[in-house]
Amino acid sequence: MQQLVYTIDENYSGQDMARDVSATAAYQHASSRLQLVFEPNHADRDAMRQHLRNVRAELSGTTCVGMTLSGPLNAHMHVPTHPRCTFLLFEHGTVHARSYNFKEINPREAGARFCNELASLADVKGILCLVAGSAPSPTPFFEMLALTYPELPVFGSMAGATSVFGTQSSVFHGDHILGCGIIAVALCGEDLHVTCDYNLGWRPIGKELTITGYEGDGIVSRINENVAAAIYRHYLNVGLNERFIENTCAFPLIMQDGKYQVARIPLGYLPGGKLRFGMDLRKGAVMRLSYAKPEYLLEETLASANEMLAFAPQAILLFACLGRREFLGNDLADRELSYYQNVCPATIWASGYGEILHTEDGGGILNNSIVAVGMREGAVPADQVITPFEDSLLDEEKAFVPLEDRLVTFLEATTAELGNTIGDLAHMATHDQLTGVYNRRRMDELIRYELSKRRTGDDLILVMYDIDHFKRINDTYGHNAGDRVLYDLTRLVDATIRTGDSLGRWGGEEFLCLLTGTNLVNGTMVAERIRSRVEEHDFYRVGRVTISLGVVRARTDDTLESLFSRVDKALYDAKEGGRNRVCVG
Ligand code: GH3
Ligand code: MG
Ligand code: MG
Repeated sequence: MQQLVYTIDENYSGQDMARDVSATAAYQHASSRLQLVFEPNHADRDAMRQHLRNVRAELSGTTCVGMTLSGPLNAHMHVPTHPRCTFLLFEHGTVHARSYNFKEINPREAGARFCNELASLADVKGILCLVAGSAPSPTPFFEMLALTYPELPVFGSMAGATSVFGTQSSVFHGDHILGCGIIAVALCGEDLHVTCDYNLGWRPIGKELTITGYEGDGIVSRINENVAAAIYRHYLNVGLNERFIENTCAFPLIMQDGKYQVARIPLGYLPGGKLRFGMDLRKGAVMRLSYAKPEYLLEETLASANEMLAFAPQAILLFACLGRREFLGNDLADRELSYYQNVCPATIWASGYGEILHTEDGGGILNNSIVAVGMREGAVPADQVITPFEDSLLDEEKAFVPLEDRLVTFLEATTAELGNTIGDLAHMATHDQLTGVYNRRRMDELIRYELSKRRTGDDLILVMYDIDHFKRINDTYGHNAGDRVLYDLTRLVDATIRTGDSLGRWGGEEFLCLLTGTNLVNGTMVAERIRSRVEEHDFYRVGRVTISLGVVRARTDDTLESLFSRVDKALYDAKEGGRNRVCVG
C-alpha cells in the first residue's frame, strides 16, 4: 500500500490534489482507495460540503471519510489551519465505510448493525472510527465490536471543534456530514497487517480519587464525596475560569483500563463544579492525578516509534491529543510526531477531542495520548535494515535545569521517600516487632475478613497456642533469653504451616494460626505437628520448651468474639489437662 499526503490551501486546491493523486501509479492500480480528510475549518459546513462533492466527482471510486479538528488551546499553539488529506492506496486490500447518525440510531444498535456488516467481510484487520458529538457516548458501539470481534483493533478519533467549549464537531462520509454519529471503516485484506501503539508518558501521583457522583454522559458531579472540581483547587490551586483546560490538561487523571493506564481530562466544567469528560465514566472508578516531564512523553513515544520500525509500516495514522502540545510546546510536540515520520515519512497526524484505541488489552476513548496505527500489505521486506532513531536531546545533561523540572524532580524524590516511610509504617502497624509475624490488630482483621467471605462448607481453622511455664524461663534465664525463645519458636512454627496460612502474635507468649482450605481433622494434625516440633527443638541456652494448643473450626454463625472464646477455652483445657498437648474445642 502507499500513503500520500496533501495540504489544501489558497495555492493548492482540492482539484489540484485530485489531479495529482489520480496521476500516480499507486492510485491507478489501487484495489481500493481511502481518502481521509482532516478539516480545521469546521464552521463553514457549506464549504466543506462543496469540497466533499468535488472530491466525489473527481475521484470516483475513492472512499472519502474525515473529521473536523480541534482548534488551538491557546494563542501560541500551532495547529494545522488548512485541510489535510491522506490517501491510503491499497494494492490488494479493500475498505468498507459505514456511517450511523446517533440521532436516528443509538450507539449500541449501530454497533450491532456494523457487526452484521462485518460478518459478510473476509479478512477484516482493523476498524477506523471517527466520531462527532460527545453525547450519546459512542462507547457502546466499541463494546459491541469488542464483544463480537475481541481481537479486532478499533482506532481513530473523536472529532474536534474550534474551542473545547464548542460543540460543532463533525465527521464526514461521502457527502454526508454528521454532527452526532460515527463513521466506521473496515480495513480488509488477506495480506494486510495493522499494528497499534498507545503512548502516554504521564505518571500517577498523590492519593487515589474515587468518583462518588456520576450523572451519565461523561458528567462527574462528585469526587471523594466532594464537589468534583474541588480537586483542582485543592491540589493545583486552579479555579473555574476560561483557562481551566489549559491549567488542568498537564495533570490528567489516570485510571487503569484493561492493560492500559489511561488518562482522562475534563473537557470543561458545569455550574456547581461538575466536570464534563468526553467519555463514559462510572461511579466508584478510582483515579489518580498524574504529572510528567517533557522527556517522559518523548522517551515513551520514541521507544514506541522505534518498535514500529520492525513492522515496516507503509502508512501511519497518528491521533494525538492537543493536551500534549499544550504541555510540550510546539517544537517538542513536532519533535515527538517526527519520531513516527522517521518510521514512515508520509505519517499524518490529527487532533480531536479524544483518541480512540480499543484492543483486547482494553482502552476506548483516550485523552492525552498518541495513538499510532501502522499498516502494511505483504511481508516485511527481507532486506530490511532497522536503524533505531536516537534523539540526542533526550540524553543531554542540561547545564541549566528549568524550574519546573527541578520541582518535579524534588516531588518525585520526596514522594518516593514518603512512599517508603508509609510502607514502613504500614508494616509496623500490622506486624509484631519482636517476632516479625502479624500483630493482634492484623490477625483480628484477617479473621474477620475470612469469616465474612466464607461460603458454607468452607472450613476455617483457628489454632491458639501458649508457651508452658514461660514465666519460669524468664525467671531462670532472663528476659532476653525469653525473647529469643519467642523469636525461635515463631520461626519454627512459621516453617511448619503452609504459606497460605497466617501466623500472628496475639500478645505476650500467646499466638494464633489461621488455617484455610483445610478441615478440623487436618487442622488438628497441623497443631499436633507444631506441638511435637517445638517439643523436639533444642532452644538456645534454654533447651526444652513446650506449648499447649487449642484448635477450633469456625461455625457458620461464629463471630470473632464467639470464635475466640471457644479457642481460648480449648487452650485452657489443654493447660488444665497437663500442658504440652492439643485440645479441640
Ligand atoms: P502457663 O503454662 O500457664 O502459660 O504459664 P506461664 O508462666 O507461661 O504463664 P503466665 O501468663 O503466668 O506468664 C506469661 C509470661 O510471659 C509472663 C511474661 O513476663 C512473659 N512475657 C510476655 N511477653 C513477653 C515478651 O515479650 N518477652 C518475654 N521475655 N517474656 C514475655
Ligand atoms: Mg504461658
Ligand atoms: Mg499466657
